[in-house]
Amino acid sequence: MPPIRHRPRVHRWREDTSQGEAWCYQVRCECGTEFGEYYAERLAETERAEHRMAVAPPREQRCRDPKRHRMQSWDRCCVCADQLPLPGMEDPAALAGNPR
Ligand SMILES: [Zn+2]
Ligand SMILES: [Zn+2]
Repeated sequence: MPPIRHRPRVHRWREDTSQGEAWCYQVRCECGTEFGEYYAERLAETERAEHRMAVAPPREQRCRDPKRHRMQSWDRCCVCADQLPLPGMEDPAALAGNPR
């Protein structure tokens, strides 16, 4: 099963209130998480940012090249996560400690 890609977006619509019509904002994401409805876009944007942080994998599993891999920077990228250090990028201390 492929991992869920979180693409939280802020949706807005007009809603009748006692004060008249107002814009309503709510985050929606493919994962089905329930988000609050707000009259302030800023609050919805905050929830969106929080959701990204909440679902982000450990830093070393995140995509290091989102453009090329068509990922978002908070996605777990199987290409990047499984990647070994490039030749020449190994810890230099480990190499230096073993002269032959
Ligand atoms: Zn999500
Ligand atoms: Zn990647």
